[in-house]
Amino acid sequence: MPEPSVVLIEDEPQIRRFLRATLTGQGYRLFEATTGADGIVEVGSRQPDVVVVDLGLPDMDGLEVIRQLREWTDVPVIVLSARGEERDKVTALDAGADDYVSKPFSAGELLARIRVALRHTAGASHEADAATFEVGELQVDLLHRRVFVGEQEVRLTPIEYKLLTTLVRHAGKVVTHQQLLREVWGPVHTDQAHYVRVYMAHLRHKLEAEPARPRYLLTEPGVGYRLAAD
Ligand code: CA
Repeated sequence: MPEPSVVLIEDEPQIRRFLRATLTGQGYRLFEATTGADGIVEVGSRQPDVVVVDLGLPDMDGLEVIRQLREWTDVPVIVLSARGEERDKVTALDAGADDYVSKPFSAGELLARIRVALRHTAGASHEADAATFEVGELQVDLLHRRVFVGEQEVRLTPIEYKLLTTLVRHAGKVVTHQQLLREVWGPVHTDQAHYVRVYMAHLRHKLEAEPARPRYLLTEPGVGYRLAAD
């Protein structure tokens, strides 16, 4: 199998240089574009495994790039955004981005996000194999609908279980409050953000050794939650 390929759409030369060193050093094939319009053409012609796009581009908004890509491709898209722009992150995820990293970010952070994106692509074709999800001491038996922490079985209510399995489906990726509301409670409850907070607190008390400092059910401030994948 050839090395995975990445199209990077970013106008800042320092960040391109940093990512070129990081990604090619890890064996990825990298194709670069400095504008949104060129980036969309690159994605069309290179058919990459992952796209990394900056939200602030000279010719168009990164959000618009994502919307245009989503008209014809499901390629995983990871957004680079300036720290603190929580609303932009949520908008990007709603527009079809798969994940984001906040600038300034470390090479390790971005590589981890890319690995998760590639794993989800690879896993999409044989989901039946993934009857059990495991991370650390946490084990979710999706076939028998049973949850364990170490040897101990944990009893979850139907809503708690649904919330957990929704995060399992997106393991390692951020899931927005809106997505959780839609997938767990249904489309009519998308303004009830406190549901998620309340049930997440229940889940943490049942699954985490230290609910205030979670190991599995991580908070992404202002955006949503992420289930640790390793
Ligand atoms: Ca920029």
